[in-house]
Amino acid sequence: MGRAIVVANQKGGVGKTTTAINLAACLAEAGQKVLAIDMDPQGNMTSGLGVDKDVIENTVYELLLGETEVEGCVQKEVIENLSVIGSNINLSAAEIELIGQDEKEYILQKAIAPIRDQYDFIIIDCPPSLSMLTINSMCLADTVLVPIQCEYYALEGLTQLIHTINLVQERLNPSLEIEGVVFTMYDARTNLSLQVVENVKSNLEQNIYKTIIPRNVRLAEAPSYGMPINMYDTKSAGAESYRLLADEVIHRGEEEW
Ligand code: ADP
Ligand code: MG
Repeated sequence: MGRAIVVANQKGGVGKTTTAINLAACLAEAGQKVLAIDMDPQGNMTSGLGVDKDVIENTVYELLLGETEVEGCVQKEVIENLSVIGSNINLSAAEIELIGQDEKEYILQKAIAPIRDQYDFIIIDCPPSLSMLTINSMCLADTVLVPIQCEYYALEGLTQLIHTINLVQERLNPSLEIEGVVFTMYDARTNLSLQVVENVKSNLEQNIYKTIIPRNVRLAEAPSYGMPINMYDTKSAGAESYRLLADEVIHRGEEEW
């Protein structure tokens, strides 16, 4: 069975969406069947994968509200091996509309169940909050991938995130694990990036991916062309790093950390 990975960190701007888009795309490039699910009402993963978020009709929102079957929500193979369930600003109302629903933490998990076996990987992008959308994502997921930006307050909020993951594991999804931590926006020209990496490594017990994502302007440009980095600039440092990350994710479990 495939692995569902949720990319989460309640801090904004740490590289969640960039990581979700490009990890999904590089897994697909490596021949894995991938489903990308955009749980952020901003819809940046949706548009970053070339889907027009303002015209799609069946999104995560309709899915959560039970207004449509899951099959009808999947934008099939928008890129070879990569399908998308998109979202847009409508999703911001879901939180309120789900109040009072039975087992509201499991709505996404139940909705995806019929198609889950069709994919090797499900990659979920989260909003920058520990909201019901993030909890629903964690109830569907096998693992949580945590991007950490190489900046001064890198560790801020991480305790809450790990606490939330532990609570979800205890009460809602016992099989949830931390996939690992990935450093993003590493700037080799500054000592700060290096210090952050060293500091996090010595303070964190979680698995840390060997691949470090560099700061690379091509990564920031690609979404406005609706392309993942491996298509936008296939030889860029950003593309190479996300390919390496995808490779580590595929082979996770085969070797000791
Ligand atoms: P989040 O989803 O956590 O809010 P994003 O992935 O949207 O974070 O990244 C925040 C901003 O930083 C975006 O403008 C994005 O293009 C840019 N960015 C992310 N990762 C990199 C990187 N490795 N190099 C350069 N810019 C990046
Ligand atoms: Mg984001």
